Amino acid sequence: MKQFISYGKQFIEQDDIDAVVDVLKSDYLTTGPVVKVFEKALSNYCGAKYCIAVANGTAALHLASLVLLNKDEKVLTTPNSFLATSNAILYAGAKPIFVDIAKDGNIDLDLCEEELKKDSSIKAIYAVSFSGRMVNQEKLKYLKDTYSIRILEDNAHAIGAVYNGIKAGSCTNSDVSIFSFHPVKHLTTAEGGAITTNSKELYEKMLTLRGHGMVKTPDMKPWEYEMRELGFNYRITDMQCALGVSQLKKLPQFVKKRFTIAKKYDDAFKDSIVKSLYTFDGKSSYHLYVVQVDFTQLKISKVELFNKMREKQIGLQLHYIPINKQPYYEKLGYGNENTPVMDRYYEECFSLPMYPLLSDDEQAYVIETLLEVLK
Ligand SMILES: *Cc1c(COP(=O)(O)O)cnc(C)c1O
Repeated sequence: MKQFISYGKQFIEQDDIDAVVDVLKSDYLTTGPVVKVFEKALSNYCGAKYCIAVANGTAALHLASLVLLNKDEKVLTTPNSFLATSNAILYAGAKPIFVDIAKDGNIDLDLCEEELKKDSSIKAIYAVSFSGRMVNQEKLKYLKDTYSIRILEDNAHAIGAVYNGIKAGSCTNSDVSIFSFHPVKHLTTAEGGAITTNSKELYEKMLTLRGHGMVKTPDMKPWEYEMRELGFNYRITDMQCALGVSQLKKLPQFVKKRFTIAKKYDDAFKDSIVKSLYTFDGKSSYHLYVVQVDFTQLKISKVELFNKMREKQIGLQLHYIPINKQPYYEKLGYGNENTPVMDRYYEECFSLPMYPLLSDDEQAYVIETLLEVLK
């Protein structure tokens, strides 16, 4: 293999490029008509009533947290995510509580219930659809109804996922869901993100906060606007949204290709020392393909494996380092939570290349090389 195979990569075709160029030749580069087209296409796709496109997934999490959380409230979340998920809780002045994960890499909702029973000051759960696999929706609904808590689903990995008929981003059992359109995710706008919700009230608040907290109504003087909240500039451009609209049309193909790759990996590792984090059951849109290896049984360490694979032009990645063990979080007093499943996960797991453009030959090469290096 001559070309380096990374763990994730975007898929841009000529029609995507043309869509962006069309905007460049138009009157509006930003805050024009294409933002609304993208938002409408996303809310239609997910089956949510409202959608707000924003500058990136982190901005989406920030705006959602400002409307969902109050200062000092406790929020259950997962250590197995990108930093932005729990950082957003901190942005709102609230307090993340890290709960251990289940075997599939998602937050353990049974443990969440134990926490909720013990502590009535917990007001929300931030659940990440890790690797593209949505959390147990029946249990999520049960927790939301039973404990009257607010739910955010971080679906940055999971656009295109469907869990027993429930689409990621539909907010069927959550108040707000967010997406990221960073190039490694399912579809890209370079940088970009979106929020979906079925609540008109939350939608209007977040919309105002996206644009400096500014409001302009028909009864105002022509030049007038009012700043009613301390908002931000979290706008996304029309160029980016044009790319998003074009990419969204291809999402079903993208996901189908990821399914094919996932099934091939599943089959290849079935009787080997490489364990797939979960096997294909239609509940994941496979942003990541994570495998687990018990390195204590092997001569090779995880670092050596990463380095050897890199020499052979294959990029492995680790999703994720436990957030609660990051220096910043340790300074805040985190890091000593009882999370045995996450600890073991961190020792044993890593992600293999997974993206629509990964060819059959490349995939075969990844499988063959991994098994060879581990032997
Ligand atoms: C990528 C990602 C984010 C942040 O998205 P950006 O667009 O990079 O800001 C948040 N949560 C998860 C789980 C992610 O993977």
